[in-house]
Amino acid sequence: MKKDDCIFCKIANGEIPSDTVYEDEMFRAILDLSPAVKGHTLILPKQHFDDLLTADGETLSAALKLAQKIARAQKAALKCDGINVVQNNGEAAGQTVHHLHFHVIPRYADGEKIVTWPQLTSEPEEQKMIAASIAKNL
Ligand code: 5GP
Ligand code: ZN
Repeated sequence: MKKDDCIFCKIANGEIPSDTVYEDEMFRAILDLSPAVKGHTLILPKQHFDDLLTADGETLSAALKLAQKIARAQKAALKCDGINVVQNNGEAAGQTVHHLHFHVIPRYADGEKIVTWPQLTSEPEEQKMIAASIAKNL
């Protein structure tokens, strides 16, 4: 299903032009308009899902396979040294377009790290409680 007011639905389905690197019946992969690095690619399913949490399994499996294909093509075309695959869910996580997408971002050995987080210390008892609480909800 498409969503009328969703820009990525329109791009994925070809109603708005984009720099497309790949297309099949399920996906369009396009260059990001404001790339973190040259070649920064977005994988957009043609069907609308808000995010990872609401997407179907078939789309998710196929998206990861496509991320591998795009990553290999970036490595060959751009001679990058590494690849970040990034996927944001919800505004708190930095998602700005609420249509499921995967970022596939070429990285270079001499470049800045762009996916970083603080490394907090952990408490063994608290870790056990958190693990149990997540496990109970699976
Ligand atoms: P998010 O922050 O939601 O994970 O990522 C959204 C991404 O979409 C951003 O990197 C942003 O630059 C990109 N973007 C937003 N609007 C457009 C657009 O109209 N065309 C393209 N190609 N990229 C877009
Ligand atoms: Zn959409």
